[in-house]
Amino acid sequence: MIFKSEKLKEEFYSVPAMLQVMATHFEQLCVAYYKKEPVITRVREKVEGSSGVHEAGRGIDFRYEHGDEIFVSEHDAQFLVSEMNRKFTRTDSRKTMMLHSFNGGPKHFHLQLQAGHENDEVDCSVLI
Ligand SMILES: [Zn+2]
Repeated sequence: MIFKSEKLKEEFYSVPAMLQVMATHFEQLCVAYYKKEPVITRVREKVEGSSGVHEAGRGIDFRYEHGDEIFVSEHDAQFLVSEMNRKFTRTDSRKTMMLHSFNGGPKHFHLQLQAGHENDEVDCSVLI
């Protein structure tokens, strides 16, 4: 895992263990399939106009677009997203991961933990 800044590393280790496990699974998919190390660009920083999931410590963003570069092809990105949503299916209608942009910003992977699941126990069945 690569952190855009040292501050993000601290923030990463302050979020619920389950969200860290989900992020680590995403990292493993990126490395295993595409030999790419994902870059965390946002953890707790507020996103103007968003639902507050980042401030609540339930959201992590990973870089997709960066200048002229993209992390993997759109097709491969959709594979990663669907694998994450399959592995960590929520009990409501929302998605665990999506590829999107917000307020005209760069497209990124947004990973989120369902509200009320902050204290979920991480057991071996979750880990690969
Ligand atoms: Zn986000």
